[in-house]
Amino acid sequence: MTPSFQELFGAPPEVVSHAPGRVNLIGEHTDYNGGFVLPMAIPQQTHVELRRRPDRRVRAFSVNTSKEGKVLEFELGRETVGRTWLDYVQGVTQVLRDAGHTLSGFELRVSSEVPLGSGLSSSASLDVGLLRALREAFSLPMDDVQLALLGQKVEVDFVGAPVGVMDPMAASIASQGVALFLDTREMRFERVPLPPGLDPIVINSGVAHNHAAGDYRVRRAECEKAAALLGVSQLRELSEAELPRAEKLPEPLGRRVRHVVTENARVLATVKALRSADLPTLGTLFYASHESQRLDYEVSVPEIDLLVGLAREDADVYGARLTGGGFGGSVVMMARAGTGATVASRIAQRYAQRSGQRPTVLVPQT
Ligand code: ADP
Ligand code: MG
Repeated sequence: MTPSFQELFGAPPEVVSHAPGRVNLIGEHTDYNGGFVLPMAIPQQTHVELRRRPDRRVRAFSVNTSKEGKVLEFELGRETVGRTWLDYVQGVTQVLRDAGHTLSGFELRVSSEVPLGSGLSSSASLDVGLLRALREAFSLPMDDVQLALLGQKVEVDFVGAPVGVMDPMAASIASQGVALFLDTREMRFERVPLPPGLDPIVINSGVAHNHAAGDYRVRRAECEKAAALLGVSQLRELSEAELPRAEKLPEPLGRRVRHVVTENARVLATVKALRSADLPTLGTLFYASHESQRLDYEVSVPEIDLLVGLAREDADVYGARLTGGGFGGSVVMMARAGTGATVASRIAQRYAQRSGQRPTVLVPQT
């Protein structure tokens, strides 16, 4: 039995907050290049219960990762990177202090329905859930965008994951059924509702992105190197007309640039297709994005390709693609309205038989 907050800490929580995971519809590996992304909230959330303490001690428990009821602890002002999940909590208290906010100690219980390490951003939902709970408990003055930017700092500056701004922005301001079209360089966003006639599907392949942090770092460094060689500050500045020049770069840089530049164009085209409810075009863009991730950016794995292949064979699916950072994780599909649940379970079943993995259908939620 998982212990309740009361059982762990001897009193009920003062504050309860939540933040969702996200599925990125399209626009992968573009956010750290100043480009466009299109995430949407999923129904699965991280829940945070919190109670202030009069001293400077922080005591934290996660239903997802804490074995045998083990509570982890640290002292405010003595945050040290330890490579456990407590780094996210320590990162939050440190970035809040650096931003001039004052806290006391607290007790914390976290539980999440977002699968960890599956490309659906459990980490940002944890960051944002924690920040929301602390904002409420300590009446911290900050809006939702400021909160998201602090969430990004937690991962970049403390945890040591050089992530872009998409995940915390999605956890902080995205909603279900409405895509968040975000220009990460300008930090401008628009909300784009999914048209009727479309059922989004999200299937977790069951392959966790274990080595992703290292590979992600390599991709990021390749983009920075390519940008420097091409004389731009971010790959976002390149248009498709400039691709011939980029393709002359030493391998694999040319292909990396081609992915980023064409992916940015596909995000813009997807927003247009959603607005005009042009579902066949939407599907073509999804498959093209997948191919670009598989061949040019090289972030897919055979299990993910199998899921996308099964989607292609399914007459009710418009399009499918790897979503999230890659190297495992999840696939997002767009299916004909009313077919989502049947299509998802049919594809998940075939995938399980062929791969021996244990997939889970996150969307539609059953
Ligand atoms: P993703 O964000 O795609 O799920 P990450 O590797 O960025 O994958 O983040 C996963 C890490 O975030 C976990 O290994 C863990 O340290 C932390 N984390 C996320 N959610 C929780 C949770 N509910 N409890 C404890 N740690 C969590
Ligand atoms: Mg993450």
